[in-house]
Amino acid sequence: MAEIVYPSAESVRSEEISGETRLHLAHAVGALLQQLPATAPVENADLADAVGVVLAFLPPAMRAHAVARASFEAGDTAWQQLGPVITGPDRWWVDDGQGAFCVLAPTAAEAAEVFVNSGNWPAHDKTTWHHVRVWPLGKDRGSDHAEDHTVTLHPVEPACSCGPHVWCAPHEVVGGLKENPGVQGHGGGVVIREVCQHCGVYRITDTWAQDPATGEQGLESIRYEEADEASEAWVASLLPDED
Ligand SMILES: [Zn+2]
Repeated sequence: MAEIVYPSAESVRSEEISGETRLHLAHAVGALLQQLPATAPVENADLADAVGVVLAFLPPAMRAHAVARASFEAGDTAWQQLGPVITGPDRWWVDDGQGAFCVLAPTAAEAAEVFVNSGNWPAHDKTTWHHVRVWPLGKDRGSDHAEDHTVTLHPVEPACSCGPHVWCAPHEVVGGLKENPGVQGHGGGVVIREVCQHCGVYRITDTWAQDPATGEQGLESIRYEEADEASEAWVASLLPDED
């Protein structure tokens, strides 16, 4: 992975940034400051210093995420004004059709991942696919430099009652053929139904899912279903007798 060089406080300070943009940015930076270690020298820093300090002090793994969040909060205008200041090989615009945001990442593909994984998407109970256009800061979105990427977002696994889930396929609960319980053919793939032996929650994996936006087939999709009477009875049957 390429080493990312962050803008110096001087480079940020040297540019004309409007008062309104400063307000937006100060708000975003304020949110970022809360993630800094207490030892970071930000007390007397002006806004420009704060941006540099925030980026320098955040753990590397958090920088791209932090900038993406700041971009969400600061809005397009702020980043269009700041854009020229922080243009570099690792700065990207990412647009999912709702507006473009600035993201720091070594590659366009990673910028797409950072963007989608930083978003506040509505709760979703099954896999979704996000389509974004990524292009370098300072270039045109329609240029040869633009790339289209699809990022897969699986639903968050529900918590188990006892450590990590242990997925099983007891025939009496998941059904299907005795020799291959819980597995059904689906197009060129299969749908696999499993149940956790601790909590009775179901996991359904479709290896032939279709992206409704593009029609692409053969994708992996996951969803979870709550425990039901059948799975709870099976879980109870596995427990040692009390007496
Ligand atoms: Zn479980």
